[in-house]
Amino acid sequence: MSKQYETVIGLEVHVELATKTKIFCGCSTAFGAAPNTQTCPVCTGMPGSLPVLNRKVLEYAIAVGLAANCEITRYAKFDRKNYFYPDNPQNYQISQLYLPICRNGWVEIETKKGGLKKVGIHEIHMEEDAGKLIHDEWEDCSLVDYNRSGVPLIEIVSEPDMRSAEEVIAYLEKLRLLIQYLGASDCKLQEGSMRADVNLSVREVGTKQFGTRTEMKNLNSFKAISRAIAGETERQIDLIEAGERVIQETRRWDDTQGESYAMRSKEDAQDYRYFPDPDLVPVAVSDEMLEKIRAAQPEFRNEKMQRYREEFGIPDYDIEIITESKHMADLFEAATAICGQPKKVSNWLLGETLRLMKETETDAQDLRFSPEHLAKLIWLADKKLITGSVAKEVFEVMFEENVDPERYVEEMGLKTVNDEGSLRKTIAEVIAANPQSVADYRSGKEKAIGFLVGQTMKAMKGKADPAAVNQILREEIVK
Ligand code: ADP
Ligand code: ZN
Ligand code: MG
Repeated sequence: MSKQYETVIGLEVHVELATKTKIFCGCSTAFGAAPNTQTCPVCTGMPGSLPVLNRKVLEYAIAVGLAANCEITRYAKFDRKNYFYPDNPQNYQISQLYLPICRNGWVEIETKKGGLKKVGIHEIHMEEDAGKLIHDEWEDCSLVDYNRSGVPLIEIVSEPDMRSAEEVIAYLEKLRLLIQYLGASDCKLQEGSMRADVNLSVREVGTKQFGTRTEMKNLNSFKAISRAIAGETERQIDLIEAGERVIQETRRWDDTQGESYAMRSKEDAQDYRYFPDPDLVPVAVSDEMLEKIRAAQPEFRNEKMQRYREEFGIPDYDIEIITESKHMADLFEAATAICGQPKKVSNWLLGETLRLMKETETDAQDLRFSPEHLAKLIWLADKKLITGSVAKEVFEVMFEENVDPERYVEEMGLKTVNDEGSLRKTIAEVIAANPQSVADYRSGKEKAIGFLVGQTMKAMKGKADPAAVNQILREEIVK
């Protein structure tokens, strides 16, 4: 019988924090500015410049640590991790090795079988991001942009507690939710504000000891992570089955080729000659600061779900989807507070909103329409000032550019025509133009009325109340 293997995975997750300024200087962290316009002597490593810790970075790191059940280090330090690379102007990165800000935490994930599982957090530390190298093949040169140099990061190091790609994704989603709810980062894998390095080894089922691991970098989507895990698991099992050994190294996963290749042999902490940064004072976390951060922790998803169940009486399915994003939950609550109709708000979010999000590949946190406008749209439809199909049409424009639906309806002349005279006139025309359907209806074919309603709605450009059309049609035909 062939041997059975188990995959063992631990993650190192980098998250860019949503501070306005960098970790050790006052430069802006705004994304997309012209290269090297958000730099200063500190973040370009000029001699004589001195770093000063951004307090907000510390607060975010502690808040994430508390959300992940960590112990907060009351006396923490920064260390220099020394290495040369052109995107690293100081020749060292300021990070934390000896006394990271958070340790020994855990988060709970749901497993495929429906159970709950704790994934241990070994530590969370604060560090600075590097600049960005741009390799210009056209000009045959490399350029460097230091705008990202000094952008604050936290690195969340898990214990090797995960056993499958599903667990890894559940863990990442959990972290993303916690951090987004805290407002500490937008956590977008595609844009690099959340980056995961996957450490993976295999071992025979039943063995206590872990196998030798490799580390894979550059995974920027959940799909790529899943494929990389499957590919690397298979590669390691093949090696072991062939009597060879897995070498501890960093590998790059090429998602288009569907295989990984060796990048460099694994380096150890001592290779970096870490030492405490003499330019920064140690970080002392007072009781007062800790209590303040603890008191300011938001309502997280589980509590929010519970409250929604009690407060709004909408189905669990709706609650799950709405609370998957803090922004959507905020929209839901604010719109409901205005219009008082939770189920209707939920229907718009789960229906048209999700459909358009998918179509335009929009992230929930980037939704642009305001809760006031959604509430107003619901009101317009409730008052029968617009029809259902017009409401959808208006919503699409709201989704794109957050227009005021009332004004838009006014300007575009989309109000339902309640003038019975003009409705009867149109219906008379439709009846005259469709004698066959009229005859069908008269001979008992109920379905024919639907076609005639459709024709009338079309002639009215959707601005008629379908129920009224239906009723008048029947009256006119029977006459
Ligand atoms: P290093 O200091 O060399 O980077 P760490 O002990 O900090 O190594 O571990 C880095 C990551 O690798 C952690 O997320 C940890 O859970 C994971 N890891 C450690 N050993 C293994 C292993 N044998 N298999 C899978 N993952 C592992
Ligand atoms: Zn700077
Ligand atoms: Mg490490």
